[in-house]
Amino acid sequence: MPHSARVYDWWLGGKDNFAVDRQVGAAMIDAIPTLRTMAAENRRFVHRVARHLVTDAGIRQFLDIGTGIPTRPNLHDIAQSLAPETRVVYVDNDPIVLAHARALMDSTPAGRSEYIHADLREPARILADPTLTGTLDLTRPVALTLIAILMLLPDADDPAGLIRELADALPAGSYLAITHPTADFNPTEMAAAVGAATGSGMTLVPRSKDEVARLFDGWELVEPGIVPVRAWRPEEPPTDPESAYYWAGLARKP
Ligand code: SAH
Repeated sequence: MPHSARVYDWWLGGKDNFAVDRQVGAAMIDAIPTLRTMAAENRRFVHRVARHLVTDAGIRQFLDIGTGIPTRPNLHDIAQSLAPETRVVYVDNDPIVLAHARALMDSTPAGRSEYIHADLREPARILADPTLTGTLDLTRPVALTLIAILMLLPDADDPAGLIRELADALPAGSYLAITHPTADFNPTEMAAAVGAATGSGMTLVPRSKDEVARLFDGWELVEPGIVPVRAWRPEEPPTDPESAYYWAGLARKP
């Protein structure tokens, strides 16, 4: 069976993927020819949001769920290059990511970077995991990052409810960052990509801006709100922000 982590790894030029992953990955590129650029744009958002959270928001703790196969720089590389004492807990449910977990745990001596093999659909288990409780101080703000993962959960899994359960465990001043693929910018191409993914047994649920906004219920969106991923605090204003079919947003817990 193809798996999202390995398909994504192949798009990014990684080597941790099998023929089935490359097959569906290629079929999705047939549907959306610029898909590889989009995956790279999504990674660039991770870099920008990590920098913003550490430098401007003073965040020193991250909980990143749906980490993916390590790709340099990882979230902790960015965060700890700015504040070496930063602590990061990564969570993924893919055995391939687990096999690479060591590459996610090369923390600075002052900080910490840990990995938990767990499922976003079991937030209580994640929150009670001794690695999490031993790494993060949940009385201090945490940035919860859900980057390109929620499209893998159908509505039946109640992504908003899962986020609420995680949010309830975090103190005021915490942050939530989300990127999410959408059909809003190019319904035809996205429909073809969904067809290619679901035809191979993968779940892919693009969501509209309103649906993404509902995932932030109870949080206060930070400027510029929910925008195309390329338009989220870019280093240079993109000429065509809607050319990467992802919504992106960052919000603060009041
Ligand atoms: N966040 C990274 C990787 C995105 S690929 C980035 O944006 O660069 C999506 C990742 O989510 C994959 O590694 C996949 O294994 C993981 N994932 C999918 N469903 C999950 C679940 N229910 N619980 C935990 N991780 C999940």
